[in-house]
Amino acid sequence: MTYERALVTGGAGFIGSHLCDELLDRGKQVTVVDNLSTGRRKNIAHLEGHPNFRFVQANVLDKEQIRPDLEKADVIYHLAAAVGVGYIHEHQVGSLETNVLGTSNLLELASHMGNKVVLASSSEVYGKSTAVPFYESSDALLGPTSIPRWSYACAKALDEFLALGYHKERGLPVVILRLFNTVGPRQSGRYGMVLPRFVRQAVTGEPITVYGDGLQKRSFTYVTDVVEAMAAIAEVPSANGEVFNVGSDSETSILELADLVRRVTCSGSELVHVPFAQVYGGEFEEPARRFPAIGKIQEYIDYHPTTPLASMVEMVAESIRMEEGRE
Ligand code: UDP
Repeated sequence: MTYERALVTGGAGFIGSHLCDELLDRGKQVTVVDNLSTGRRKNIAHLEGHPNFRFVQANVLDKEQIRPDLEKADVIYHLAAAVGVGYIHEHQVGSLETNVLGTSNLLELASHMGNKVVLASSSEVYGKSTAVPFYESSDALLGPTSIPRWSYACAKALDEFLALGYHKERGLPVVILRLFNTVGPRQSGRYGMVLPRFVRQAVTGEPITVYGDGLQKRSFTYVTDVVEAMAAIAEVPSANGEVFNVGSDSETSILELADLVRRVTCSGSELVHVPFAQVYGGEFEEPARRFPAIGKIQEYIDYHPTTPLASMVEMVAESIRMEEGRE
């Protein structure tokens, strides 16, 4: 099954804009719907004027605004979401609205129009479970509702429930992707997102801020590997109604990452530990490890995210140096 007319919600965001690049490379027509709340026009500036590309400023919370563009698409990649631990902490209500109601709107419209939907979910749905590696069928373990970060996990889990319900009850062709820590150029460090923060700190000579003891581990995946997987899995009909981890099978502690960033950027920045309470205030919980099993998606597509972490750091450093005018 091939789809030719793609709509990318959140297409002016970090992952969304790379997905647009990938889809255009594949010869697709691409329309971006983004309200530019956290997305940035400059992420897609290089695509303006491309004959197969269109940008529409609209909000997924407004069904009537997005309906005409959904009607024209045959596949919708739904990435519009409030993301970033820091952002969720500051904007809990708005984030829940966008992440639950926006997705609900989109799924409802798509179920009437017959679009295929690729839903971007998150590894955050596994919560603070320590039973790594996480399989798609693994249990989730969320903390109390007094801790804002779990509202994001809960919203993304609700999105998955909704999508699976639409698939089962109304035949919506939908595939759900749980993205693990995705990194690359254009990612903003404003609302958390460790790699762009560390790299910016390293290239500007500021202290590198390791939260907590830095022994928490993550598995980082390069954005190009992620968007290739998104575009490929969309065209596999047997993936409909399925949930897939999209991540990498190598793990790094945040302290190791800080060291690597310092080495790759030849930075003299000192390393400082910042207590979580100082960053987020009050109660906070942190997943100790977040490590995916990726065998399931490999049964459906050719998925081998092999970009080494040092290369990811180099590419992020190059783009940040250009932004900072240091090249
Ligand atoms: N982190 C850090 N320093 C920062 C930003 C983040 O040590 O300046 C840590 C954060 O506590 C987490 C990891 O880096 O353990 C990844 O954070 P990010 O926000 O990128 O993603 P998360 O995995 O928390 O969703």
